[in-house]
Amino acid sequence: ERIISQTGDTTDQNLEQTLRPQSFATYIGQNKIKEALQVYIAAAKQRQESLDHVLLYGPPGLGKTTMASVIANEMGVKLRVTSGPAIEKSGDLAALLNELAPGDLLFIDEIHRLPKVVEEMLYSAMEDFYIDIVVGQGPGSHPVHFSLPPFTLIGATTRAGLLDAPFRNRFGIVEHMQYYATEELERIVRRSAQIFNIKITLDSAHEIALRSRGTPRIANRLLKRIRDFAQVQHKQEIDVASVRQALTALGVDPAGLDRTDLHLLETMIDLYHGGPVGLNTLAANLGEETETITEMVEPYLLQTGYLKRTPRGRMVTEKGFRHLGRKPPTATE
Ligand code: ADP
Repeated sequence: ERIISQTGDTTDQNLEQTLRPQSFATYIGQNKIKEALQVYIAAAKQRQESLDHVLLYGPPGLGKTTMASVIANEMGVKLRVTSGPAIEKSGDLAALLNELAPGDLLFIDEIHRLPKVVEEMLYSAMEDFYIDIVVGQGPGSHPVHFSLPPFTLIGATTRAGLLDAPFRNRFGIVEHMQYYATEELERIVRRSAQIFNIKITLDSAHEIALRSRGTPRIANRLLKRIRDFAQVQHKQEIDVASVRQALTALGVDPAGLDRTDLHLLETMIDLYHGGPVGLNTLAANLGEETETITEMVEPYLLQTGYLKRTPRGRMVTEKGFRHLGRKPPTATE
């Protein structure tokens, strides 16, 4: 299992629940988004209206679900959480919408994976708070008009461009979640350690932050594994030695790259002299889905400059070659 993976098992989900900040005050980082949302929330409350629909986009694990629950707390309303793949037909969506009280939030993770019919049903729900449902079958079937309470849809997706424009345009608030700075991740690690009731040195928190690829979910997962290592060694406190040892065992290198990342870079270098390589070719060589590469492996490698995109395909950068201890091609890039 990839420690960096998007979906966790149930223990991981319970862990995430306990570590989830409940308010803007405890939600670390994403300051610009927090500031903007605080204004919109205050204004909506003053007008006693529901908040505009919100689209949050960015790589997995950056705190989109957490942000949705903070917004619910700050608005003083209930949050209903679901995901694109979980809503299979329009009836599923109708049932969800039917349960909402005025002002409630509906959070749809992976909203780009909603079936088209469901997406289209959301258009009127978002814009004018009603849905039309076809009742019955054959010649006797007829549409029935259902009014909905004013509600707020919060959609989460990896890239805003995955949504069609008519859908995207129905979100009044669109925010891009950023990778976290090392200092912010350090604070997240220290906060989580406190919740776990474990001691950790400042430089250990720093080391974990450096290796968490800008992502709170990964920082928390690493901390949890490192805690296990420290515990079996009867350490009273997590120190840098236990961090390094645990991360080596987990296959996470000093830059936070894991085996999947390194395998991708190595494959590109070994088979294609570093590229350019097309996405489909690369996916076939790695035995991965193209979406896994574009959504879960590539973003961090691109962001940190180990990989770059060119019109002819992906290329390993000079930094990428050097990171693997390989000699970069002398040809001009
Ligand atoms: P996403 O929905 O973007 O995949 P989540 O909201 O599920 O990400 O966040 C993953 C985990 O990371 C959460 O359980 C939470 O513990 C932690 N986390 C995310 N953002 C923050 C933050 N800003 N401050 C502290 N912890 C965070």
